[in-house]
Amino acid sequence: MKGNILYVVVPCFNEEEVLGETSTRLKEKLSSLIKSNVIDDDSKVLFVDDGSKDKTWEIIKKLHGEDSIFSGIKLSHNRGHQNALIAGLGAASKKADMIISIDADLQDDINAIDKMAYEYLNNDCDVVYGVRKKRNKDTLFKKTTAEGYYKILKKFGVEVVFNHADYRLMSKRVAQALLSYKEVNLFLRGIVPQIGFKSATVEYDRGERFAGESKYPLSKMLGLAVDGITSFSTKPLNMILVFGIILSCLGFAGFVTTLVFYLLSMLTMFLPIIFFVTLALGIILMAIGVVGLYTGKTYMETKARPKYFIEEELD
Ligand code: UDP
Ligand code: MG
Repeated sequence: MKGNILYVVVPCFNEEEVLGETSTRLKEKLSSLIKSNVIDDDSKVLFVDDGSKDKTWEIIKKLHGEDSIFSGIKLSHNRGHQNALIAGLGAASKKADMIISIDADLQDDINAIDKMAYEYLNNDCDVVYGVRKKRNKDTLFKKTTAEGYYKILKKFGVEVVFNHADYRLMSKRVAQALLSYKEVNLFLRGIVPQIGFKSATVEYDRGERFAGESKYPLSKMLGLAVDGITSFSTKPLNMILVFGIILSCLGFAGFVTTLVFYLLSMLTMFLPIIFFVTLALGIILMAIGVVGLYTGKTYMETKARPKYFIEEELD
């Protein structure tokens, strides 16, 4: 029979305000699934403390002491959401048959867990993607930038599931496959679809963070967005080349035409040249910047630094 131990992996960075409520809701959810024999009674909620500065780890330890359904690992330093998830998957895949990753603030509806487990247990799916139904709780800025970003990723040839973030179920073998990826620039929602196997999607409503503030400031979000493109596609480099060729042709044509007008004394040379030089300089700097972005990534990848260290592990 198919194993049905479920681990819910929850990355936490300074989440003391939400952990009480989150743990209560997740415990209720797992207990009801255990009671109805959907999942094994060895199933757990695994919190990953991503180097928090507040009481997050104390709370996790207390929860674990009170109820063995809660487990946890503490990373030695803040390594970011994607690395925290990988650390959690590493620990969970030793015991779990299926792993669900979910944010600590429970913005993602935990009732989708039932459907995810169903797809895994009854339809033999190895991956179940949580997909946001509507984004009516997001600000207009977040909605347009996020949806626009998914479209850009598609254009660059990155395989992503529309409106899916990091709320997903993975079977043990998919988790292990994911852990075999050695790259340090992690963009999980781009890697998981590449792994393959049978998958399904489950729709849910995304709510608001019920306490505390977002741990994803605009700068971190932009970093992840850039990772998403540069880790999967070299199209921006090709685009620079094409753009450069087009611009050179235009420049040459413009130069010949304006020179003729100048020789016919119909134009002074000064103004067009200033604008042209500024434009060309901007484009050259942009091109160097994009090449630099990839060089930087290559630099980080060749060093292949460890993604995290576990300082403490419960269980
Ligand atoms: N998170 C993390 N490490 C970080 C930043 C965030 O583990 O360096 C976790 C955070 O605790 C939460 C999840 O990643 O569980 C998503 O963060 P958040 O809800 O703040 O992002 P948002 O929903 O605002 O995009
Ligand atoms: Mg959130």
